[in-house]
Amino acid sequence: MNPFPDSILNDLMAGDPETAISLEHLQRNFAANLLYLQGKLPTTATPQELYQALAYTIRQLLMPSWVKTTQTDAQNHVKQVCYFSAEYSLGCHLANHLINLNIWEPIQQCLETFNLNLQELIDQEIEPSLGYGNVAQLPVNELDSLSTLNLPAIAYGIHYEFGSFDQEIRNGWQVEKIDKWLRYGNPWEIERPEATVNVKLGGHTEAYYDDQGRYRVRWIGHRCIKGVPYDTPISGYQSQRINTLRLWKAEPIVSLNYQDFNIGDYYGTVLEKPFVELLTKVLYPHDELIQEKQLRLEQQFFLVSCSLQDMIRNHLATGESLDTFYRRYAVQLHDTPSAIAIAELMRLFIDEYALDWEQAWSITRQTFTYLNPTLSPEVQGKWAIGLLGSLLPRHLEIIYEINNRFLIKVRSQYPGDFTKLARLSLIDETGERYVRMAHLACVGSYAINGISLWQTERLKQSIIPDFYELTPEKFRAISSGITPRRWLVLANPRLTELITYKIGNSWIKNLADLHRLEAEMDQVEFRLAWRNIKQENKRQLANYIEQNCGIMVNPDSIFDIQIERIQEYKRQHLNVFKIIALYNQIRKNPDLDYVPQTFIFGGKTAPGYVMGKLMIKLIHAVGQVVNSDPIIGDRLKVVFIPNVTPTLSERIYPAADVSEHLAMAGKKSAGIAILKPAFNGALTMGIVDGASEELRNAVGAENFFDFGLSLPETEALKAKGYNPWSYYHTNESLRESIDQIASGYFSQGDPNLFKTLIDALLYHDEYMIFADYQSYLDCQDQVSKTYRNWEKWTQMSILNVARLGRFSSDEIVQTYCQTIWNINPV
Ligand SMILES: *Cc1c(COP(=O)(O)O)cnc(C)c1O
Repeated sequence: MNPFPDSILNDLMAGDPETAISLEHLQRNFAANLLYLQGKLPTTATPQELYQALAYTIRQLLMPSWVKTTQTDAQNHVKQVCYFSAEYSLGCHLANHLINLNIWEPIQQCLETFNLNLQELIDQEIEPSLGYGNVAQLPVNELDSLSTLNLPAIAYGIHYEFGSFDQEIRNGWQVEKIDKWLRYGNPWEIERPEATVNVKLGGHTEAYYDDQGRYRVRWIGHRCIKGVPYDTPISGYQSQRINTLRLWKAEPIVSLNYQDFNIGDYYGTVLEKPFVELLTKVLYPHDELIQEKQLRLEQQFFLVSCSLQDMIRNHLATGESLDTFYRRYAVQLHDTPSAIAIAELMRLFIDEYALDWEQAWSITRQTFTYLNPTLSPEVQGKWAIGLLGSLLPRHLEIIYEINNRFLIKVRSQYPGDFTKLARLSLIDETGERYVRMAHLACVGSYAINGISLWQTERLKQSIIPDFYELTPEKFRAISSGITPRRWLVLANPRLTELITYKIGNSWIKNLADLHRLEAEMDQVEFRLAWRNIKQENKRQLANYIEQNCGIMVNPDSIFDIQIERIQEYKRQHLNVFKIIALYNQIRKNPDLDYVPQTFIFGGKTAPGYVMGKLMIKLIHAVGQVVNSDPIIGDRLKVVFIPNVTPTLSERIYPAADVSEHLAMAGKKSAGIAILKPAFNGALTMGIVDGASEELRNAVGAENFFDFGLSLPETEALKAKGYNPWSYYHTNESLRESIDQIASGYFSQGDPNLFKTLIDALLYHDEYMIFADYQSYLDCQDQVSKTYRNWEKWTQMSILNVARLGRFSSDEIVQTYCQTIWNINPV
């Protein structure tokens, strides 16, 4: 069967790692890739082609380990964790692999011999933005850790043709541009048409008796779609394991129906194609309520159906029976909508593989684990019965049956308690009938957790409390964490070098070792070096801002950043009110001694979210006035960096002195956005609640700037009745700012531009912005005062980094593997 002479294969697979990265070898591969794959010579190639040649060169280095990983896992029947997530915010591949394979230097040297600059080629990579915000970044951080720790994993997702839109700013407004991330092809992925699966949608079900006389049901789909997998290697830091990200693309089963073609229906035959491909055409805009979104349900189902069929096929290929399925796979439902996987696995087991219900249910329930990242019961995924029934008729039957059996148990546990029954039911009968996906996920999985310790508490207490009462043993609390490789080693090479010079490099794989920095903190030279690195990073960002935003900022000012999606609950407008107050203060007392400050914003907002767009416009409008006021000079600048992606944010965090987290208490679930700047020595200024509380406890309250109402205080105020006008009438600087915006001071005299926004704040502000206003201003004052003492500031910054050990995603996945997934390193 093996036509290869062993010697060649052994040479290719085992290959001497030293030879593989020898200058000669790299030069040859790079030139060969350019010539053979792209038909170009170094002299005629575009930067994009040169980047691709380099990408293929790195991919060659990954390939033997990748193949070996896949082979070993299959041969040894290794248990894997499988992520089901519709979104992955991947960041760029090339630079990340250079760090993980530890080959930055040899590659740089190789390119120098071609007179090429490595950074310029790195910048050519078009980032795959297949997700938004922290829920999409979480699995990506965890995947890096899984590979690093030799833990077997496969991540399943959707191969969107267009990812998260590119954000352009025109006249202060967000304009969305389609993200054609595949326009030059993607050297990191390999299409695997041989592993294609078929997925059905729509149609009806039919009962029948099989040849053994058993009652069975089959689903006659109305549409059938091909799922074609594209595989991407996920390397770990200095590890031999390369796990796989497998993304599914929808394709029509036949692109040309010759029968219709022959009878003259040419358009009918070709029109099918775009219709089917629509399924994976575009990443759904975030912030949209999930209800009633047919395309979203189709996408979720397509993802889970393709993936489960793939897993079953691979499992059976090892010769084992389906009884041991759950011993090979732990499936992490990453967010609620993917819970449709529970019904699909039941359908596959029962209808396709003739398992009986009890057996199928027992395996299914031992397979799934469930991450619920939400903070309010209202945003749990729900699908209308009508929609679900028309798209997935068989699944609706299965869900009803799961519910019947579940409610029998509930009834015996709570006899006579009908409200309990109605609350726990998988079907919401209060108005139009819905399937509650969160309930399906709770019933069909063996472990449930949140996105941070604190948010898991919220799950227990207020989001799915009935399930906590019913099955407390399923709930696990896991913190959130990020990978220090991408967010420190890659993002901040200068700081990495300094830390490693001081305490060695063990911290990169064992983040707790950072605590050794505390012993170094008293050395003045160390603090000076720390500070100089921050200054250098700030100069670099200042250049970027000048080139991309046309604004000159002072690198000696405090760089204060707020980078997150623009949403009312994150209260970027509170930040703007503070900036206006500072502006008015300087204008009134221009001769006082101020610490100069630069406020840097970044983030996208959903295309249909009017208030989010207005908030972006407000930031620009205020920036325009502030930045051009000669009295202000460079003491205050406001910058909005357009189109901040994870890769761009890697440039911003290392330059941050302060990172702001203003979400009202109770509204922010995860720590990712808080941790990324903290890893780079930024001090956090924020509402203490949830993830920020975890951070403050770790770094010490004296190294953290907190302000505002706590969660109990927020709830008390809400109960008592929040009255925005009382703040308006009693707080002079607040009133002044509001009046300025309302009078058109920042909108060239137009009083209507921000009317919606101001009215929302004055009449129905569920985020109670004004309640935190004064405390926020006082805190800002504290920040400025502290910054004047650079020795103290730097000490706080070092302590922040030194005490981050527990927030590595390495810790998180280890806990998952030991306490939930039962997965061991290979
Ligand atoms: C970290 C990060 C965020 C933060 O996510 P939220 O969900 O908004 O908290 C947003 N955008 C980018 C580009 C990021 O890197």
